[in-house]
Amino acid sequence: MIKVQFAARPERWDTYQTPLRDAFAKAGLQVDLRQNHPPGEVDYVIYAPNSDLQDFTGYTACKAVLSLWAGVEKITGNTTLTQPLCRMVDPGLTAGMVEWVTGHVLRYHLDIDRSLKTQDCWDPVVPPLAQERPVTVLGLGALGAACATALAQLGFPVTGWSRSAKSLDQIACAHGSDGFQRALSQAQILVLLLPDTSATENTLNAETLAMLPRGARIINPGRGPLIEDTALLAALDSGHIAHATLDVFRQEPLPQEHPFWAHPHITVTPHIAAETRPLTASQMIAQNIQRRETGLPLLNQVNRELGY
Ligand code: NAP
Repeated sequence: MIKVQFAARPERWDTYQTPLRDAFAKAGLQVDLRQNHPPGEVDYVIYAPNSDLQDFTGYTACKAVLSLWAGVEKITGNTTLTQPLCRMVDPGLTAGMVEWVTGHVLRYHLDIDRSLKTQDCWDPVVPPLAQERPVTVLGLGALGAACATALAQLGFPVTGWSRSAKSLDQIACAHGSDGFQRALSQAQILVLLLPDTSATENTLNAETLAMLPRGARIINPGRGPLIEDTALLAALDSGHIAHATLDVFRQEPLPQEHPFWAHPHITVTPHIAAETRPLTASQMIAQNIQRRETGLPLLNQVNRELGY
């Protein structure tokens, strides 16, 4: 019997236990799933960083910690967690991100705000075609690649940027510091889907915001620290950046007194771009446990040095 511990907020147990049990059964895994196994007996931990479990010292037999979250920046600094750590890559979460990003790109592209504001006059302004609107996606991982591909399929010329070299159908791929300026310089709409690591902090700062064309729009469903808040506010106030849609923040919930809330050129959404979906996520967790049990390498393992 494989002993799996579920370590997340108590209300998550109600949401996850049935889909997890179903997924284990479907994968042919004999699993004893509980919230409270003795630590030394646990084979796998299904983990949300906001659970009470913060000290992994006693989990001596644990073969892997399987994160329920895609972003792992809150876990990678935990020095007691020495077991292999896997990020969540979930088709349901990816579909949610593709829908959210595509929706917000189309809002900017079609200038939907203008239509909403001009309900009382006949003032036809025909939007350009997607093929005339270059979009750049920073980060070409599970989420960035899916969003970039969906946008390219709608006709946008898409440039993508990652740490290592990539080759993706329909995407102009750039990487490293050399490709960065090229990726930014043509982006009328910029989407940030990078992880929060020491290397990605303040990816957008005064210097790099200036690399974007005047009037560019920014969509950040990645993580708050990717953008230097004061530099973004200055770029919006000067008109260099026309608008920003921000889903993630350095402090969440975004404090009521934060200038982002009242800014006329910022849309705040409360970290809702993409959530892990219990049904599909449970299938991914079962698949990863099955792989480990049959001697295959774990999927989506976090590189502790890189921090993602
Ligand atoms: P991922 O698969 O790990 O992909 C990360 C991408 O970023 C990779 O393409 C990686 O490059 C690139 N990257 C990392 N460090 C870089 C650097 N220093 N320079 C250039 N590129 C760099 O992650 P994911 O699953 O796509 O998720 C991305 C992020 O989305 C998560 O970390 C999380 O913060 C955020 N997220 C937000 C929500 C939400 O609701 N707002 C939901 C889920 C996730 P390589 O390909 O070369 O490795």
